[in-house]
Amino acid sequence: MSFENLALHPSILHALQEAGYTEPTPIQAQAIPEVMAGHDLLASAQTGTGKTAAFTLPALNLLATPHPSKSRGPRILVLVPTRELAQQVNDAARKYGKFLRARTVSIVGGMPYPLQNKLLSQPLDILVATPGRLLDHMERGRIDLARLQMLVLDEADRMLDMGFMPDIERITAALPGDRQTLLFSATLEGNIARIAAQILRNPKTIQIASQQAKHENIEQRLHFVDDMSHKNKLLEHLLIAPEVNQAIVFTSTKRHADLLAEDLHAAGHKVAALHGDMTQGARNRTLTKLRHGDINVLVATDVAARGIDVAGISHVINYDLPKFAEDYVHRIGRTGRAGKRGIAVSFASHAERFQLRKIEQFTGQRLEAAVIAGLEPQKRIQQPKPHKFGDSGKPRNSGHPGNKGGGYKGAGNRQPGQGYGGQKRQDGEKSFSKRSGRSFA
Ligand code: ADP
Ligand code: MG
Repeated sequence: MSFENLALHPSILHALQEAGYTEPTPIQAQAIPEVMAGHDLLASAQTGTGKTAAFTLPALNLLATPHPSKSRGPRILVLVPTRELAQQVNDAARKYGKFLRARTVSIVGGMPYPLQNKLLSQPLDILVATPGRLLDHMERGRIDLARLQMLVLDEADRMLDMGFMPDIERITAALPGDRQTLLFSATLEGNIARIAAQILRNPKTIQIASQQAKHENIEQRLHFVDDMSHKNKLLEHLLIAPEVNQAIVFTSTKRHADLLAEDLHAAGHKVAALHGDMTQGARNRTLTKLRHGDINVLVATDVAARGIDVAGISHVINYDLPKFAEDYVHRIGRTGRAGKRGIAVSFASHAERFQLRKIEQFTGQRLEAAVIAGLEPQKRIQQPKPHKFGDSGKPRNSGHPGNKGGGYKGAGNRQPGQGYGGQKRQDGEKSFSKRSGRSFA
């Protein structure tokens, strides 16, 4: 199958050729014809499978036909959970829409309003936005949505988790009723189906790979650890290995990301932290450095690292296990991009054993513990037995916060949050749970 078979506009095919894409990925091959036929779409596929082009290409194809209306508002609206993802979708739309001269704008929180007002007052085709800021502008009457033809929800599962649903409901209520709507998600679990029923009309459903898909190009390893000092030793051992090109190290809190980055810097690594407390400018600069290879190690929290697409990332290291099992899948998806191989290493302390079990249930895969000579754990950790894998296809407790109906605030699915030395661990990225960062030192 080639892109030529998909009846895309020649100038889009030209751009794809320049991008070096020879054939559509499975999600693209299945989604593009449905979208071009005008259907609403509910699509899920694991990270790194090319979902961005799966909606951007048919959206651009729509733009190849001029709109009869003289109004200047966007014809396509893409809602995304984070600024980084907005940037990424914007870049992709520009790349694939290069020869169509599609006018693309991204509107995210943290940017000055006057600049955004200016951007929004110009004629535009594609608007990529985070829900909160978009709603602000809509309520101030800054956006003309009269000729909107297509709404895309990218990483809908994440938007749901981040509490964007009320905003999204208000946005969709203000959009033309005859628009086409596409919803993309890494998973169709939890409340996604309910949201889809609410927002989509007779959608076609495409489910390429379930959460249980094996991430076959990513080698997953597990190390049991005694304590933080053990984690640090293992980390140093892993990072100096010659096969590490670039690595993302995940911590559970922003404060911890900063401290670990400082330690790694002192140890001579080209390292930076990335988390939600940084300004957008600082985050962009860090990501640019990562892309250019000026940084080899990024110490990040979950929300900030979501959607990072840097081909050089050979290793993902879960210094702390994620609180939510689904974040594990998003984390390891930062490596093994564009068909490359990747390695994902997780550290699990005694206090994290239940998080480990939830991850295994969610992915349907057992993580086998490995040891490194000289760095074996001293304490024996009982790896809790997961419920049965695989045959039902559905983990009993997927770790999805939505499954418990509580969202982050309800904390239904959270672990007790035991840190080291009996201290309570803080929340990382949930901006609405305003707690002071605690020292890990
Ligand atoms: P997802 O949103 O599913 O996580 P992305 O859309 O970010 O995945 O795509 C992951 C990577 O694959 C990107 O680097 C993208 O440029 C690349 N890619 C997407 N489609 C193709 C294709 N048809 N051929 C080659 N590379 C592709
Ligand atoms: Mg994506």
